Amino acid sequence: MLLCAAHLGGVDNVQARDRARSTKFDNPGIVAPLPPRRPVELTLGRPEQASTPTARTTPAPAEPEGLIGPPACFATFFERGGIALPAASESGSGACTIAEPVTFRAISMPDGSKTELDSAITVTCAFAVEILDWVREDLPGIVAREDGKLTRLAGVGGHACRPRNGVAGAQISEHATGNALDLFGLRLADGRTVSLVATDTATRSLRESLKTSACARFRTVLGPGSDPSHKDHLHLDMRQRPRDYKICQWNIE
Ligand SMILES: [Zn+2]
Repeated sequence: MLLCAAHLGGVDNVQARDRARSTKFDNPGIVAPLPPRRPVELTLGRPEQASTPTARTTPAPAEPEGLIGPPACFATFFERGGIALPAASESGSGACTIAEPVTFRAISMPDGSKTELDSAITVTCAFAVEILDWVREDLPGIVAREDGKLTRLAGVGGHACRPRNGVAGAQISEHATGNALDLFGLRLADGRTVSLVATDTATRSLRESLKTSACARFRTVLGPGSDPSHKDHLHLDMRQRPRDYKICQWNIE
């Protein structure tokens, strides 16, 4: 409107222009209404305002801190016994970004006990659910055959931004996208630690069962005998391959 008045010709239009100018300068609130000035104290949040209910920020949702993204998988994560921790800055970036990351260090078991992880891991929510299902549904029965009760996953590793097997130039590892778990052993309530890379006959049957269940659930299982970098731990991931090809390489001795 002001621009138009400036380009009009003739007396009437000059008057219109002058009216517009007059309006502009005399009644700024009509021609170009400005938003009401924000009181400084609102911006700064004076203590007395912060103490009133209307000035409080919206309470945090009931979900545990640190979870971002669509809630569908997170609901499943909690239903399957996941106990989330506030996420660190581990969601990564670039080729090492984790989609829907969850960080956890403990799993609520069907019998009400907890299975803890040696250290917290951050993985995709979908992969976390795979871990939860394996730990809750398969492991208790397997260790029970040896009169054991699972209490801890020992020597765990999750997210790591690195190429496969740490070899420079190699394809990016499933660990980089939070789609893999490394595991050394299982700790039992009676104090035993079952090493997955052991070669003793006492735990052979248990390790055979673990291999069978792991290879049924995960798309990649690499343990001792697969390659030198997996001689001292078990690697599990859900890497998608053409025709749903799976790798199950773990020589039980
Ligand atoms: Zn690994």
